[in-house]
Amino acid sequence: MCGVIGYAGHRPAVPLIMDGLRSLEYRGYDSAGIAFLQNRKLDVVRAEGKLANLSAMLVTRDVSHATIGIGHTRWATHGVPAVRNAHPHKSNDGTIAVIHNGIIENYQELKAMLLERGYVFYSETDTEVLTNLIAEGRKCNDSLPDALRWAVSQAAGAYALVVLSEEEPDALYGARLSSPLIMGVGTGENFVASDVPAFLPHTRNVVFLEDGEYFRITAHSWEVRRVCDNERVAKTVQTVQWDVQSAQKGGFKHFMLKEIFEQPKVLTDCLAGRLISPDLPVRLPELDNRPIPGRIRIVACGTSYNAGAWGAPLLEAWAGIPVSVEIASEFRYRDPLLQPDEAVMVISQSGETADTLASLRLARERGAMVIGICNVVGSSIAREADAVIFTQAGPEISVASTKAMCSQMALLVLLALYYGQKKGTLDVGVWREACDALRALPTLLEGVLPEMRNRAAELAKSYAQAKSFFFLGRGPCFPLALEGALKLKELSYIHAEGYASGEMKHGPIALIDPDFPTLAIALDDALFPKVKSNIEEVQARRGRVLAIVNPGRELRADDVWTVPAAWGPLSAFFVLPALQLFSYETADYLGKDVDQPRNLAKSVTVE
Ligand code: GLU
Repeated sequence: MCGVIGYAGHRPAVPLIMDGLRSLEYRGYDSAGIAFLQNRKLDVVRAEGKLANLSAMLVTRDVSHATIGIGHTRWATHGVPAVRNAHPHKSNDGTIAVIHNGIIENYQELKAMLLERGYVFYSETDTEVLTNLIAEGRKCNDSLPDALRWAVSQAAGAYALVVLSEEEPDALYGARLSSPLIMGVGTGENFVASDVPAFLPHTRNVVFLEDGEYFRITAHSWEVRRVCDNERVAKTVQTVQWDVQSAQKGGFKHFMLKEIFEQPKVLTDCLAGRLISPDLPVRLPELDNRPIPGRIRIVACGTSYNAGAWGAPLLEAWAGIPVSVEIASEFRYRDPLLQPDEAVMVISQSGETADTLASLRLARERGAMVIGICNVVGSSIAREADAVIFTQAGPEISVASTKAMCSQMALLVLLALYYGQKKGTLDVGVWREACDALRALPTLLEGVLPEMRNRAAELAKSYAQAKSFFFLGRGPCFPLALEGALKLKELSYIHAEGYASGEMKHGPIALIDPDFPTLAIALDDALFPKVKSNIEEVQARRGRVLAIVNPGRELRADDVWTVPAAWGPLSAFFVLPALQLFSYETADYLGKDVDQPRNLAKSVTVE
């Protein structure tokens, strides 16, 4: 999830672009780069690491004459964080520079075609392929915009890209599909960026680009056309009211809220290129040359552990692979008995979680194949695992993890389908229904999130004074109950325990009284009558119950919260954001520091 910015104007472009990049750094910070024109010559400066490294490199350069340029802050998807993979990428003839946010899914096919035509590649990125594709397009098209249109029509996937070329030294071109791109309209200067804060100190007048559109900006003009037929699109200039500070969170009050609302997009990105159609098997090329494990041991911490516990039964049911789930800080100090055909699957958002990394090393020492599931390219787990699958959730800034868990769960569904298809254990009907339901999820989720938030806020007010909370669930809802309890305690500091509903009668029910509420997850599945009985047992002891249910299920509770149902186990993708929003709203109502709760850190790199 990189950040892009472009400027065409009358002021020195480089410092202005650097300021813009600072406000986009939340989108990625493993490397950064800038391209500009001086005396009609294209120059590119790139550095690994945070923006400060790029700034330090620019100090020694005279860049004061450049009034047009582009800048990029990277969150790697293709190729490790390194200068050679940093953007902007130059075409082989050195005249075109491109910055890009997104993933070109068919870049390997396009790269093979360009290699045959004599192009040379200096990076592992999909972006460099796109850059040379534009250069190739220029050979057989009359103009740069036609070359851009041709190139993007060859590319499948997602992109927000901006192009600077020696051929048109006063203009920037760019296009978008599924990744954000917004123009800022100034006086004698125009901007384009992934997000409004990048140019907010200079203009509040914005034009939102839509999928399938491309733009041209110069200092004094801007226009938008359609890629497909080159027709001009009449766009309206809108004025945003955001102040610079809050806009960094994209208009959301907290990063956490923003990240909860990003989950539909996270699902789309996680499925992209993997779930092509209901007729084709799931694509996980990272595992293609690896043996199918006879058993799997999932090892993780915190929220990632909860995601693993949720996904384990799917691997068992669809792929017929026995799966056990362990807490990494326990596993690493045991003397685990690993079977010869057993794979260890480590899950970590950052890819740096110390206990999980130590478990990975222990598993490898014992000769087990390690499959890593993580979000950060270039992280230790990504480097050390035998095979790594990236969750594509983009940078998660809020310390409490939300969208990362959503992407981990989606990946576990894909893994269960992948192994089930490979082994032939998966029923074709289940395969098709799962694929259809997965593809429908992002749009459905996007539609319900605003209303879900309103309900969460309402309920949070009514439960915020509780000192303790139970979260109950059975089967696939038990790991969700664990996650709900974890979120509530880490954000609002209310004591909360996640329990398997059936365990209540073995002791914990002794705690129930009118001041000790219970959130029960009672979905429309085979276990519903059992959970219903457990809820009644709580109520018989005068416990207050908030029940999360699916439409059409009758239940008596103090508060009933209906969330949409999806096919089979996928209803979890609606329950998860409901639980996240409940904790978020409770913490916010209580005035807690939502994005940076006390005593916590984002990436737990110590024991
Ligand atoms: N695919 C590009 C890269 O790896 C852009 C990444 C992104 O926008 O997340 O550099």
